[in-house]
Amino acid sequence: MRRKIVAGNWKMNKNVIDAQQLMIQLLSYKTNNTTNCEVWIAPPSLYLMMAKDIFEKDEIGVFSQDMSEYESGAYTGELSADMLESIDATGSLIGHSERRQYHGENDESCNKKVKLALDKGLIPVYCNGETLEQRKAGQHLDVVKTQTETALFTLSAEEIKKVVIAYEPVWAIGTGETATPQQAQEIHAHIRGIIAEKYGKEVADEVSILYGGSVKPDNAKEIFSQPDIDGGLIGGAALKLEDFSKIIEGFN
Ligand code: 13P
Repeated sequence: MRRKIVAGNWKMNKNVIDAQQLMIQLLSYKTNNTTNCEVWIAPPSLYLMMAKDIFEKDEIGVFSQDMSEYESGAYTGELSADMLESIDATGSLIGHSERRQYHGENDESCNKKVKLALDKGLIPVYCNGETLEQRKAGQHLDVVKTQTETALFTLSAEEIKKVVIAYEPVWAIGTGETATPQQAQEIHAHIRGIIAEKYGKEVADEVSILYGGSVKPDNAKEIFSQPDIDGGLIGGAALKLEDFSKIIEGFN
């Protein structure tokens, strides 16, 4: 059985008081409800240690939103895999489209980051997805294929099984425009197919592939019901317990 996951990417939101409040609400929700999926959050890195204190029994997985492609050294502002391991973080998002757009991230650097994360026992959540122009030009399948191959195909079969992929079409992020469940399923099946070609079906069937891009309480259930969609990476709707919990319940 593939792991089912609802993960919240908080991006650059919330001051420390508001972040702590939402974490405490999430802990209480998770303690008092049975969920049919794992629940993860990626708060701003400043709050990662607080998150680890609050979720002391790993009730909720704690992820950074990015990590360095380098091991250590003179890289001002960066966070290393080693540091994340040292606070017992669950993993890191890697290659989010906003990192690609504003910080020059590409699939070659994602490849290094994914490898470093795995070496430290962290779960890499590798994000990919096409832009609107690429979809309009009918290039979405090719774009996602190249992204996946470049970032992941130096891994061994055992390694790739530990990676979580988040397909996030750039045109659906923060726009209120969601890929239809069918559009998302098409790409998820495509990604799984590419992995199966290289590593075999058994390996591909173990890789969890999340969908991200304007997932909301009212569309989560239908998206999660698609056979190759194993959960969601949620932006805006992860910032309030009311919305996030309804999305988690999309698995009920
Ligand atoms: P939204 O859910 O706000 O569209 O963001 C999706 C996302 O980028 C999650 O990483």
